[in-house]
Amino acid sequence: MQKILLSLLWMTFFSQAVLAQSTFIQNKIIAHRGAWKAKELPQNSIASLREAIRLGCQGSEFDVWMTSDEVLVVNHDHELQGMDIETSTYAQLLTKTLSNGEKIPTLKAYLREGMTQKATKLILEFKPSRISVARSERIGELAVKTVQELGAQAWVDYITFSYEGGVKAIATDPKANVAYLNGDKSPLELKAAGFFGFDYHISLLRRKSQWIAEAKTLGLTTNSWTINQEEDMSWLLSQGVNFITTDEPEKLAALLQSIE
Ligand code: MG
Repeated sequence: MQKILLSLLWMTFFSQAVLAQSTFIQNKIIAHRGAWKAKELPQNSIASLREAIRLGCQGSEFDVWMTSDEVLVVNHDHELQGMDIETSTYAQLLTKTLSNGEKIPTLKAYLREGMTQKATKLILEFKPSRISVARSERIGELAVKTVQELGAQAWVDYITFSYEGGVKAIATDPKANVAYLNGDKSPLELKAAGFFGFDYHISLLRRKSQWIAEAKTLGLTTNSWTINQEEDMSWLLSQGVNFITTDEPEKLAALLQSIE
């Protein structure tokens, strides 16, 4: 009897776990560098990730660089308060403090925070190295391996301006969802190279709007940046894109609500 009860309990737990994996929100809203603007939080801080989660965004985007001692850290610019990330050690970066008191987050800490919930996905942008293509490939590889190590695959989609880094990430994990940012590849070229989709600048998509339809036909996802004007949001929605990346997730949420 006890055994049956135990297995019933286990089955209930397991089915809830499976359900939980499918609870990611689908509202197209990707918070760009987290949700930081309205509350004046530091971009890419753990606090900005928490705010994007609190708002119920489909995804929260963040930028990843690699230190000289191969620690992956989350920051937008190539430098942190005047300290170049790629030529500094992680210990050196810890001498700096963000405006809200946080230290520069490691990718691992960022992923662990995101994995405390199952509603908002983590959109991991790994930055092309300013030193070498080899380092761009290494950061793509290490980002994927870090996600695998933490078991965060279900939470993470990747974006990158580095074509070589993207190809390396896909080779490291063929199931990794990697979208390309740089705008110089057609949907057909991206499909052939195993990419998940594109995330292109709005000005390019306005000129080449047929790429959105082509991507859909090929089963690629479509995303655009950085969309802060309501007019651009409306145009992208009319084109049926999968995601819209914005500094103002609250504005896009209000627009979506108004047209429901
Ligand atoms: Mg970014």
